[in-house]
Amino acid sequence: MINQGFIYICGMTNVILKKKISQRITNGHPWIFANEVAEVNGVADGGETVEVFTYDKKFVGRGYINQRSQIMVRLLTRDRNEAIDEAFFYNRIASAWQYRQQIGYTENCRLVFGEADEMPALIIDKFNDYFVLQTLALGMDKWKPAIVAALQKIFNPKGIYERNDVPVRELEGIPQQKGFLTTPFDTKILINENGLKFHVDIENGQKTGYFLDQQDNRRAIQHICKGADVLGAFTYTGTFEIHAAHYGAKSVFGIDISENAVAQANKNAALNGLENVCRFEAMNAFDVLKQWGKDGKQYDVVMLDPPAFTKSRETIQKAITGYKEINLRGMKLIKKGGFLVTSSCTNLVQPELFLQIIEMAAKDARRKLRQVTFQAQASDHPIIWGMENTNYLKFLIVQVI
Ligand code: SAH
Repeated sequence: MINQGFIYICGMTNVILKKKISQRITNGHPWIFANEVAEVNGVADGGETVEVFTYDKKFVGRGYINQRSQIMVRLLTRDRNEAIDEAFFYNRIASAWQYRQQIGYTENCRLVFGEADEMPALIIDKFNDYFVLQTLALGMDKWKPAIVAALQKIFNPKGIYERNDVPVRELEGIPQQKGFLTTPFDTKILINENGLKFHVDIENGQKTGYFLDQQDNRRAIQHICKGADVLGAFTYTGTFEIHAAHYGAKSVFGIDISENAVAQANKNAALNGLENVCRFEAMNAFDVLKQWGKDGKQYDVVMLDPPAFTKSRETIQKAITGYKEINLRGMKLIKKGGFLVTSSCTNLVQPELFLQIIEMAAKDARRKLRQVTFQAQASDHPIIWGMENTNYLKFLIVQVI
């Protein structure tokens, strides 16, 4: 594919698109797939900044290249006058922070949400004075020093940690790794959320240590939990369940398959003085919910927040089956007039499909539902229309009537 042809004269590698390209690119999506590229002219060992042109030499944008990846180029800018350098990352991160503040985030937030912040494959979570970052593509990984320098300059943080222990990096030919990007610090930190406190383990917790994407949704359970017997499944460190107890639940029982998560969840309950209301145990939700359905157990509120079930379109049916099954089992445990709080965190199941799955589950469980609220992820993870992968979390509350 490398061709030292006539276009390579000004130093920067050029990528020429095929004549017939997807609307996606012209509509503003930053990904360019290998099969959309006609020529690469110049050096492209991986990660370099390249300029992208249409077949008739119109400037499309500037981005980084990786010929080992199916996504050959990810665009960083469509402004011909904008250079990709340290100042670029400083400016983008500063404006991402400004946006979060503008919409009301102060302490904890997803500071950078990749494509939605025009920094493809970069994730930065801000936990007060601590930052956790992921660079999920080779081209972004190369800018890590500039990103760290920008964070230092804007926030003067107590610590920055890299959670690049993610398999998706292997598709880019980069290793999985994690570690300190500043002088080492105690990676077990405390954060505040909605007036509660939570332990976060930046080094060994799931993903970046904490699911900030549900932080707005956790407030949505406030009124339905008063005086309720609550069952939570897929609790991780117990955030939803501890909110339920805080909002006045009579009893809360949370389960997660991970012993570590359950230990943290019990610690979090104690940290908030709610250990008498809120208890967690390590169990498999699929087995337990099925058994309790047979036993005739009943709750006022059942909350489900399962993992993605699939990461690829080819196995989407697996996800559909998984969501249907767990929601069906959950619904059977809810008293008439009680509530189901249910989420799905994969963009492969888009909102409409998710509602269809819940409807199928309700039919099978012979339950009638009334929709209370249907939301997406917290607004610090912006949704950009036309970029399907930015619209990934579904959060639904229904009443079983
Ligand atoms: N509700 C949490 C996030 C949940 S992430 C929050 O807001 O922080 C999904 C969780 O499901 C993970 O903690 C994982 O350990 C757990 N999990 C995965 N499979 C499970 C199973 N079969 N039974 C119970 N928990 C499971």
